[in-house]
Amino acid sequence: MRVATALNIPDDEVLALGEKFEYAQPQTVLRWAIDEFGSEVALATGFGTEGCVLVDMIAKIDATARIFYLDTDLLFPQTYELCNQLAARYGVSFERRTSQRSLEQQALRHGEKLWERDPDLCCRLRKVEPLKEMLTGLQAWVTAIRREQSVTRANTKVVERDAKFGLIKINPLAVWSKRDVWHYILEHNVPYNPLYDLGYSSIGCTPCTTPVQINEDQRAGRWRGFQKTECGLHQ
Ligand code: SF4
Repeated sequence: MRVATALNIPDDEVLALGEKFEYAQPQTVLRWAIDEFGSEVALATGFGTEGCVLVDMIAKIDATARIFYLDTDLLFPQTYELCNQLAARYGVSFERRTSQRSLEQQALRHGEKLWERDPDLCCRLRKVEPLKEMLTGLQAWVTAIRREQSVTRANTKVVERDAKFGLIKINPLAVWSKRDVWHYILEHNVPYNPLYDLGYSSIGCTPCTTPVQINEDQRAGRWRGFQKTECGLHQ
């Protein structure tokens, strides 16, 4: 294993890696990431279908590879249950990262139900800051984002530099379609959140997630009534 230093990888090398892995199988990309960065790379999952696919793939490569999730204290009960189910099925450990503020502390400082008035601030406190803390000790992170999920993700490379957080960002499923994801889930009997069977298409925190209609964007159920389409983790 060679542990690379993200800041020392020149931009042209990062670009070349993106091109090299554009048509690679996700498992090939994950093997490379683990071999290249060792314990200084971690998969971030929100337990969406894509994240469950990546947990399945990673567990089959190296069940000790690092996987973390951001617990906003506002996830669906089904999501917490899925986390336990995946850990039991694959023998992996999920590192849980939380906000430094409890919901009560947040309400005292910013008022009750901040997500109804200022979801950007709420996401910053409960997602972006914990992510920053988590990424501080890493050279690279693996995400489950796909190009077709939204226009803001359309230019995602399989390997790219994360300008926001200053490390290497690896997106093994960038070129996959929703159909590819479900095909993998069904073929490999991967556990998934039962809310998908109830019309949800992208699942985040309970107060900010609703089901979607057939012709809506895959992330249209998030933050309804706001212009917001991202939590700030990927832009
Ligand atoms: S998704 Fe909603 S509840 Fe969750 S952190 Fe963002 S604004 Fe807060």
